[in-house]
Amino acid sequence: MFLRTLLDTIFPPLCHVCRSFLADPTEIHLCAGCREKIIPLRSPLCPVCGVPFATENGIDHPCGQCLTTIRPYIAARAATHFEGPVQELIHRLKYGKKSHLSRPLGLLTAAALGNFLAEIAADGIVPVPLHRKRLRQRGFNQSQLIGRVLAKKWHIPLMAHNLRRIRWTEPQTGLSAAERETNIRGAFAVEAPDRFKGKRLLLVDDVYTTGSTVAECAKTLCRSGAQGVMVITVARAVR
Ligand SMILES: [Zn+2]
Ligand SMILES: [Zn+2]
Repeated sequence: MFLRTLLDTIFPPLCHVCRSFLADPTEIHLCAGCREKIIPLRSPLCPVCGVPFATENGIDHPCGQCLTTIRPYIAARAATHFEGPVQELIHRLKYGKKSHLSRPLGLLTAAALGNFLAEIAADGIVPVPLHRKRLRQRGFNQSQLIGRVLAKKWHIPLMAHNLRRIRWTEPQTGLSAAERETNIRGAFAVEAPDRFKGKRLLLVDDVYTTGSTVAECAKTLCRSGAQGVMVITVARAVR
């Protein structure tokens, strides 16, 4: 007890978002006020791509796009909307180089998508890779760090480094969905296809925007012999 008090004095448990003191810190280190501002992604949504519908009521049903196009993945889900505290945490993680913020984001995702995981029986977690130039700039791959938290929580092997980003692409920000698709085409490759052969893989990324990045990864994984790909992201940008 004394040690705990001493540690709390030297390293007071603070909320990752607003830095307020946490009298009763849980594993995730977010205060009640900031947690309340996080908007979970809820049904009704498209069971394929996971896009939420604007209506409050109703049941899940395929969206117009999933009715007319075949997605290269089985299903995609996000834990929260890309807004408020989650947007801030992801921004600080990627651009402020605060790698420790992958932990609250991973824990948040694990808690929100436990039910989805139970349905999909994944053999391995594959983080969306960064190009080595980007990796050098940032120092870490945020998707890999988030994937590591999920792998530990869910007891699924983390299969990093086999899916590789072989082509440099300019940031997707500001591009239309069609431009993003062209921009990312052929950007990934699998180093040792044997390791993915016949496996059901859980692809992990930080944000799902148009889905072009995860779709290109899923295509690459399936071409390398994966049995199926499911996608999990921390957040989803809904336009
Ligand atoms: Zn807070
Ligand atoms: Zn859909």
